[in-house]
Amino acid sequence: MSAQILDGKSVRDSILAELKPRVEALAAKHRRPGLAVVLVGDNPASEIYVRSKVKACGELGIFSERLTPPDSITTEEMLAIVEDLNRRPEIDGILVQMPLPAQVDARRILLAISPEKDVDGFHPYNVGCLVANSPAPRACTPAGIIELLKRYRVPIAGRRAVVIGRSDIVGKPMALLLLHENATVTICHSKTPDLAAECRRADILVAAIGRAALVTGEFIKPGAAVIDVGMNRLTRREEAERIYTRQPEKLRQLAEKGSILLGDVHPIEGPEMAGAITPVPGGVGPLTIAMLMSNTVRAAERRLEAREAAPCSS
Ligand code: NAP
Repeated sequence: MSAQILDGKSVRDSILAELKPRVEALAAKHRRPGLAVVLVGDNPASEIYVRSKVKACGELGIFSERLTPPDSITTEEMLAIVEDLNRRPEIDGILVQMPLPAQVDARRILLAISPEKDVDGFHPYNVGCLVANSPAPRACTPAGIIELLKRYRVPIAGRRAVVIGRSDIVGKPMALLLLHENATVTICHSKTPDLAAECRRADILVAAIGRAALVTGEFIKPGAAVIDVGMNRLTRREEAERIYTRQPEKLRQLAEKGSILLGDVHPIEGPEMAGAITPVPGGVGPLTIAMLMSNTVRAAERRLEAREAAPCSS
C-alpha cells in the first residue's frame, strides 16, 4: 500500500488565495491588516521563522512590523513593548516569537498581549474559548491540521483520533479541536504505556513529539490518516543508515548537507502503512504560517466589525 500524500503546500496556497480578497476588502474599506512580530536577540532558528512570517504578510498585502529588542531585555521592557502594540490601532495581531531569554518572564508577556490581538491563540482567555468551543483565535499548527483534514475530506466525526504529545502549542489544542469535530480522542505522552498499541487504534494519528522516526509501522493502523508534526534534524550517520535502509540518496544528502530534516513518523514505514500521510517537509509546516495569516485577517475583521457596531468609540 502507498499512502496518499496530504500536501500542506497546496492547502496553504488555497488558504492564502482565499485570504487575499478579504485583505483587499479590508484595505478598501478601512486599512490593511497589521501584524507585529517581536523577535528578541539573534536565535538563528527563530530568525528563519520570523522571516517567513514577514514574507507571507508581504505577499498577502498585510502590513507587518518587526521589532528586534536585544537579548538583554528585561520583563518590564518587554511588557512596555507589548502594551504599546496593544494600544496601536493599526496593529491587529501581535506575535512574540518564542523562546524568550531566560530572564524574561514569558508567562507574564503572554498574559499581557490583548486576547483580541493574540494571533498565536496562546493567551489563557483564548485557550478558554478553545475549551468552550467559542470563537477566538486558535493555535495555528493544530488549526492548520484541521483545515488540511477537511480539505482532503478525511472524515473526523465518529472516528478514533490519537494525538501523541500534550504541549500547549500543539498536542492539547489539537486534541480539543479534534474533539470539537466529534472525534473520539486519546492523548498520549512520554508516560503512556504501550504507545504503539494505543496508536494502532487510531483512524487519525497525529504525532507531535519531536523524536525522529519514533512512529514506526507497528504504530499505524493500516489505512489510517497520519499527520506528522515533528521537525527533527538527523545528523548521525548510523541513525540515518538505520532509518533510510532503502534510500541511499538520503545518506548522500546527509554527507553533503550535514543533516536531514525528518518528522516523528518513520519516513518509509509510515507511507507504507498509512492510507494518507503528511510529508516532512511540505506537510504541516506550511499550514502554520497560513493559519497565522488567517488569524491576523480575522482579527482585523473583528476589530472593524466592533468599530462599526460602536461608531462613537475610537
Ligand atoms: P514539546 O513541547 O517538546 O512536546 C513534546 C510532547 O511529546 C510531550 O508531551 C512529550 O510528553 C511527548 N513525548 C516526548 N517523548 C515521547 C515518547 N518517547 N513517547 C511519547 N510521547 C513523547 O514539543 P512541541 O512543541 O509540541 O513540538 C513537537 C514537535 O512538533 C517538534 O518536533 C516541533 O519542532 C514540531 N512542531 C512543528 C510545527 C510546524 O509548524 N511544523 C509547529 C510546532 C511544533 P511529556 O509531556 O510526557 O513530556
